[in-house]
Amino acid sequence: MGQKMTDLISEAEEALLHTYNRYRIVLDRGEGVYLYDLEGKKYLDFVAGIAVFALGYSNDEYKDTLKAQLDKLLHTSNYYYNVPAIEAAKRIKKMSGMDRVFFTNSGAEAIEGAIKTARKYGFLKDGRTDHEIIAMNHSFHGRTMGALSVTGNSHYRDPFEPGIGNIRFADYNDFDSVMKNVNDKTCAILLETVQGEGGLTPADPEFLKSIRKVCDERDILLILDEIQCGMGRTGYDFAWQKYEVKPDVMTSAKALGCGVPVGAFMMTEKVGQNSLVAGDHGTTYGGNPFACAAVNKVLEIFERDKISDHVKELTPYLWGKLDEICAKHSSVKEHRGAGFMQGLVFDKPVAPVINKALDNGLILINAGANILRFVPPLVIEKEHIDEMAEILDKCIED
Ligand SMILES: *Cc1c(COP(=O)(O)O)cnc(C)c1O
Repeated sequence: MGQKMTDLISEAEEALLHTYNRYRIVLDRGEGVYLYDLEGKKYLDFVAGIAVFALGYSNDEYKDTLKAQLDKLLHTSNYYYNVPAIEAAKRIKKMSGMDRVFFTNSGAEAIEGAIKTARKYGFLKDGRTDHEIIAMNHSFHGRTMGALSVTGNSHYRDPFEPGIGNIRFADYNDFDSVMKNVNDKTCAILLETVQGEGGLTPADPEFLKSIRKVCDERDILLILDEIQCGMGRTGYDFAWQKYEVKPDVMTSAKALGCGVPVGAFMMTEKVGQNSLVAGDHGTTYGGNPFACAAVNKVLEIFERDKISDHVKELTPYLWGKLDEICAKHSSVKEHRGAGFMQGLVFDKPVAPVINKALDNGLILINAGANILRFVPPLVIEKEHIDEMAEILDKCIED
């Protein structure tokens, strides 16, 4: 590595709070599905900013929209209407089948909104203030206090206890474990349709259907976190659409803005009519014209160019390539996931493989210490999958 990048990394370590063990590259620009570091080295990107850059880095239509909005108006306030937010909300409704949208700045904030929605829904029903939410072990919902409180990973949670309280954890894909936690205080069951950070685990169809059923029977809200698995990542606009299990509340972020920080929580009309009202929730930046211009254009491109169908078509190809790698190397124990959200489970930490891959011009990321996670831009083609598999095979070998 050249002096310039080494110096910059030292400066970063002096100035930034040390909450990440960063890989030692300074990324500078993107082109197509490739990233370049400050010294001009090219990397095939199979991370996409962790499931964010669905459209890759060279979508001129998207960039021109942002440039035009920049010249027009960046921000107003949610006390006024703006055209991009109205159009983006209409598109989200159409794509998700949800009825009401609230824009946030991040995924964690979308989860906060979903939690508040559930608590208010329960409160309006019976006036109690001790409602419980059932969340899943090995889940990930974000780093703010509310989102952290429903994150089923004690390593992330313990140093910050107490959380918001009245949260119970059940085992993912174990309906009995969920039922053991259901009682007359339960106002919501929250889960990722496909667990991301916790290990690329899709929900079993029967598990999800059973949860939907108990929610219907007991007027409990089903909240699906689609922040990572939504927006085409599994070959469906939202992962739950494959299961035909519609949530009452859902969250989105990551690829929703394809690089512009934005998230959303949405709900059915019934929940909208029986939860948050004027004064209950708000945000300064959330839903501003700039972020919503991005969402609006992203959703337009998704619909017109059938991005989810592209993922569905190429999924077996990526699956096959990673299966080959799984079969060939004894250190790889399991291959799982859905769509362009796959993981290889190793019998040891994957950091050395990731560093090797970086040396060889491939950007990969982990999910937990022993799992290699594949969340590439959704616009990759077979040639990129071939290139990735070739480099990865060599790196595991070494
Ligand atoms: C990334 C992620 C979040 C948190 O989103 P942020 O934008 O980082 O706050 C929440 N849930 C899931 C499933 C995620 O993958």
